[in-house]
Amino acid sequence: MSTKLIPSLCPYCAVGCGLYLVVDKGKATGIEYMTEHPTSEGALCPKGNAVLEILNHEERLKYPMKKVGDGFVRISWEEALDMVAQGMTRNIRKHGPGTLGFLASSRCNNEENYLLEKMARLLGSPHVDNCARLCHSPTVVGLGAVFGTGAMTNNLADLENSKCIFAIGTNFTEAHPIVTRWVQKAKDNGAVVIVADPRITSTSWMADIHLRIKPGSDIDLLWGMMKVIVEAGLADWEFIGSRTVGVDELLHSLKDYTLEEAAGKTGVPAGDIIRAAKAYAISPASALLYSMGITQHVCGTDNVKSCATLALLCGHVGRPGAGVWPMRGQNNVQGNCDMGGMPEFYPGYKKSTDLETIEYFKKGWNVSNLPMGPGLTSTEMNDAALKGDLLFMYIIGEDPVVCDANVKKTRQALESLDFLVVQEIFMTPTARMADVVLPAAAWAEKDGSYTSMDRRVQWIDKAVDAPGEAKEGMWIICQIAKRMGLDFPYESAAQVLKEIVRLVPQYKGMTLERISRMGGLRWPCPDEKHPGTDILHTQRFSTPDGKARMATVKNRPPGEDVSPEYPILLTTGRIVLHYNGGSMTLRSESLNEREPELYVEINPMDALNLNVGQGAIVVVTTRRGMAEAKARITEKVKPGMVFMPFHYHGTNIITSDALDPVAKIPEYKIAACRIEAKV
Ligand code: SF4
Repeated sequence: MSTKLIPSLCPYCAVGCGLYLVVDKGKATGIEYMTEHPTSEGALCPKGNAVLEILNHEERLKYPMKKVGDGFVRISWEEALDMVAQGMTRNIRKHGPGTLGFLASSRCNNEENYLLEKMARLLGSPHVDNCARLCHSPTVVGLGAVFGTGAMTNNLADLENSKCIFAIGTNFTEAHPIVTRWVQKAKDNGAVVIVADPRITSTSWMADIHLRIKPGSDIDLLWGMMKVIVEAGLADWEFIGSRTVGVDELLHSLKDYTLEEAAGKTGVPAGDIIRAAKAYAISPASALLYSMGITQHVCGTDNVKSCATLALLCGHVGRPGAGVWPMRGQNNVQGNCDMGGMPEFYPGYKKSTDLETIEYFKKGWNVSNLPMGPGLTSTEMNDAALKGDLLFMYIIGEDPVVCDANVKKTRQALESLDFLVVQEIFMTPTARMADVVLPAAAWAEKDGSYTSMDRRVQWIDKAVDAPGEAKEGMWIICQIAKRMGLDFPYESAAQVLKEIVRLVPQYKGMTLERISRMGGLRWPCPDEKHPGTDILHTQRFSTPDGKARMATVKNRPPGEDVSPEYPILLTTGRIVLHYNGGSMTLRSESLNEREPELYVEINPMDALNLNVGQGAIVVVTTRRGMAEAKARITEKVKPGMVFMPFHYHGTNIITSDALDPVAKIPEYKIAACRIEAKV
């Protein structure tokens, strides 16, 4: 067998960078850069460059296992699948299908996620969710409420056309490094870059204006900017009049709001708010980028709505270079949401609370009963498990024991279950809690489609075999579904794609042949002749009357504040070398040797007061517990605030699980803590 170059994708973030896998004698032996890929143009960040260390890692799970005592023993696939089906059946018979919960994986392809949510609902459970709950659920519901569609309005390469880029709550140079290329191209063409972030970051180094806001004051900053724009006569009244509703209420509320109030609450000088507001408003095409610095708050949904409303106020939506760019997390988190891996939606964002949706899928799936939503979110599943209302969970490719906020509670919730099955590529802390562990194929070991953060659906073919007895996710789901008496006749991912195309309106024109071409296609793609949609909302918004809903919201205080016992604000975020809970990147030698351990950034003034030296081990304590970290003394953080990356086990022991009441996302970005030198 000769060496082959097989087109593939990076399995980490939702930028969706392309790469070639070099396959020799059935083994992936190298990568080649895909210079013709429309988003990444041959570039990869350190994580993308290190993908083979994960694919070929010796710790990959190779056999099904069951828990015996404190350890695991190898079992056959027959036994493992039978145990899972028995666990489901036992709980359905005794307590009903509402005791079953499912976590779909945003690291898995669209076809697997579609099958998982379909199986959950055919079994009668509305409780299916995914990790978007922890990162961008406010985008789905918040942008959805304002624009009618909860997704990126433009595409990543279109950033090049922007004349002003306003990045709020996103450190994209570390979290989505390849996006930096497009922002830099815009900057080289004269664009003004504004960054709102409490920290000095590699993203803020790109900024012409850096607004070092107090954590949790985003709405005040956005309102301050809106106040300036309205008073300076810079609002786009023609756009507002023809394409939006709700401006009167917004203007009425803004009347009583002052710039001084905004400056006081954000800690940003009024002059800087004015400069930023004017630069954003007067540019011919402004882009607003945001990420988890906006969403991971108790007011995450309102933060998103305020970002969208600022864009509407200036008419910066629906044109090249003008729009709102939510920077999504995992490589297929967009697709997972598109496929209905959320309790609020069946596939295609059809509301799970609408009778029409239920009738549509009853017909589409040829069944007589389906559960109405909304089911439980992943955060609510924990509460339900603790109360004894949720008894069985099937978790695919997620690690809530590391990634949830306040993980002690998650651990207790999973311990309360009657049966836990985890499908994974590595033995994660969550998998260690399972009754049965199912070894799964990784992204390059199966066919399927992935949807990047700019709605680009890309198909990749299987490049290599999975290790040992590990199986493709769709095979595993179909085997379980068949044991549960469901009609799951799928032989290939291509066959599942055909069903998705039939039932998900946004994907209707996406044939296998079309999405297999370089760069795939962006949804909505309503028919097989449609070229896909680069920019949303060019003529009308996706609301019933075609008009956007401007939002009038007020800032709410964070879930907790500093106190004499916990006098410092802790915030968390990503770093370039690691990804999410680290189940993959912490196993990569090349990444790990550069960032091997949990650290906490502390301002020099605070370090002096705490008597903590550079590199000392400190204990960070919040109301939920404590974590040890190495002190990194730096002016990147202001006095009274510290920062910890969330990839290492420890950070989420102490983060806050206070929830946004709409999106049910935890407030990872703010916790009150104290710091002590370890004795
Ligand atoms: Fe992978 Fe994202 Fe890095 Fe691209 S930017 S190489 S998709 S982690």
